[in-house]
Amino acid sequence: MTTTWVPVPEGSPFPIQNLPYGVFTPAAGGPARVGVAIGEHVLDLAAALGDDTFARPTLNAFLAQGRSRWTEVRAEMTRLLTDADARAAVEPHLHPLAEVALGMPFEVADYVDFYASEHHAANIGRMFRPGSDPLTPQWKHLPIGYHGRAGTVVPSGTPVVRPSGQKRSADGGLPGFGPSARLDIEAEVGFVVGTPSQLGKPVSVDDFREHVFGVCLVNDWSARDIQAWEYVPLGPFLAKSFATSVSPWIVPLDALEAARVPAPERTHELRPYLREQEDWGLDLILEVRINGHLVSKPPFASMYWTAAQQLAHMTVNGASLRTGDFYASGTVYGPEPEQRGSFMELTWGGENPLKLPDGSTRTFLEDGDEITITATASGAEGTVIGFGAVTGRIAPAVEA
Ligand code: CA
Repeated sequence: MTTTWVPVPEGSPFPIQNLPYGVFTPAAGGPARVGVAIGEHVLDLAAALGDDTFARPTLNAFLAQGRSRWTEVRAEMTRLLTDADARAAVEPHLHPLAEVALGMPFEVADYVDFYASEHHAANIGRMFRPGSDPLTPQWKHLPIGYHGRAGTVVPSGTPVVRPSGQKRSADGGLPGFGPSARLDIEAEVGFVVGTPSQLGKPVSVDDFREHVFGVCLVNDWSARDIQAWEYVPLGPFLAKSFATSVSPWIVPLDALEAARVPAPERTHELRPYLREQEDWGLDLILEVRINGHLVSKPPFASMYWTAAQQLAHMTVNGASLRTGDFYASGTVYGPEPEQRGSFMELTWGGENPLKLPDGSTRTFLEDGDEITITATASGAEGTVIGFGAVTGRIAPAVEA
């Protein structure tokens, strides 16, 4: 069992087997820089490694260096944090997590959101398109997605201002307008691209590991009333582009080897470009809390499409990848009622309100509500690793 000289409390999400990357500002001030979480500390990488790639307020320069450098840095960090002889030199560069400010870990290039849970897609189909097939005809043939708004991907803790917009009129007359009354979440898992690809050349499903650096948690805030009126025929637009929150830590793929599982059984033959040689299903269990109260534990392993298939599909037309490209899985959702990753589904379109411990009920989010999404997965050597948290509190609408 690999052990570190850094004190790591039992049950910490950040044992030596994890080592996720983030961007932090020290308590004493100074420029934001890249750090790695270990136990209750963050290690200042630029100072510990003497490498100014990390003396920047974003991971992008490191992401661009590619797979072999990612592996090398992880090995070197592991050595520094386990070798007692390195302690005296490295220890001064540890900062207590409780005292630093965490920021946006990377600069988002393009942002894509997928729709990979069969249970979620079928439920949304039943609610948004009653009377027709819950799954659209292409759903089992390709990972459905849309291009989102990269500029409004925000770090955990950023307040989420309730969006205003048009809504369907009850009587077919002039559409309504005003603050969303059906503001919701989507608990998702995000994938961060490091190595770019060439324009015109698709990325193979088997090259996932060469391009994707790591994984974080995502809350794809969604205004269901705005969505229901605007989304036909071109898909989500203003119902989702107002904010997408991400967790502050990027867990490298290298830390998730023990979490890899086969994707669910395929019911349709796939085109060759979507056939994986390796298993890239990931066994993460998410937890969704509203105002501290646990309401759902969506299982990521149940997702029909894997992140490797999504990457291959996203580039099969020759679209190129850039460092900092980011894509989210789609709402994570299991077959059981307590595994649903949105309030739309937890309350079945608002018909069955959730009861909270303070006696109140919720269908959709109220001003002041705080949503927190966390997750765990198996790490190396029988450990459990965590992802940190993505949190956001709803702020009142601003008058349009
Ligand atoms: Ca989504």
